[in-house]
Amino acid sequence: MNSPSTDESKIVLITGSSSGIGEATARRLAADGHQVVLGARRVDRLAALSDKIRAAGGRADYQQLDVTSIDDVRNFAERAHQRYGRVDVLVNNAGVMPLSRVDALRVDDWNQMIDVNLRGTLHGIAAVLPLMRARGAGHIVNVASTSAHRVDPTAAVYCATKYAVRALSEGLRQESRDIRVTVISPGYTHSELADHGGDPEVRAAVRAASDQLAIPASTVADAIGYAVAQPENVDVSEVIIRPTAQG
Ligand code: NDP
Repeated sequence: MNSPSTDESKIVLITGSSSGIGEATARRLAADGHQVVLGARRVDRLAALSDKIRAAGGRADYQQLDVTSIDDVRNFAERAHQRYGRVDVLVNNAGVMPLSRVDALRVDDWNQMIDVNLRGTLHGIAAVLPLMRARGAGHIVNVASTSAHRVDPTAAVYCATKYAVRALSEGLRQESRDIRVTVISPGYTHSELADHGGDPEVRAAVRAASDQLAIPASTVADAIGYAVAQPENVDVSEVIIRPTAQG
């Protein structure tokens, strides 16, 4: 583990850190010497990851969190603020991708994507922005997607949520002179994202493409680590990181 000076060590909250990109980001930022605070619904996973990070010399704790609940997200941020005295970075990473054609009318899946991917990101911003504004510093990292840049059949609603996250991030960036805003837009990345929900045929096709193309979650975590490591006056506004072979 690196040991940055107290000044450089940050308090970093990460939603959706029980698997995939969030888990890799927690490992990477803890290895960089930051205090990570993990949040997701599967609290057993968070406890196990927290133990592993601590066993490796890092600093981690965790809290069960459903990003669709503003109360949960506020509690997550406020508890960290009380415990550590500040929140330096929020990584809004939690997301779901139950894909299907629009005419399949899987309305529950649409609502889940809106609630987790978009509303969850807004909840994260609502929870930390007042704390960051009061200090005049902070960094919000929103995980969007290459699906925030192009639309594909079966992904219309997922893309709509990710385009929205990118638009929201750009608006927040323009309104902020003291808070850094970063969008991380990955392409196919190894994770559990394609394992849950949506049309089973679409899910199998995405899983096959991902198995063929996907880059490790640690490469996305490295991009987040890069953005976090920049000086306060440098805003890495967006990083798109995808497999070389992805169209
Ligand atoms: P995973 O499925 O591995 O991770 C998703 C994470 O989100 C899990 O930790 C899950 O935890 C959490 N999550 C889901 N719903 C909720 C909720 N209601 N409240 C709190 N946490 C929740 O997938 P990825 O790591 O791939 O996904 C991370 C982000 O990366 C997502 O925003 C995704 O859209 C984005 N992304 C991923 C790409 C890929 O190819 N993998 C490409 C582009 C973007 P739990 O179930 O324990 O709550």
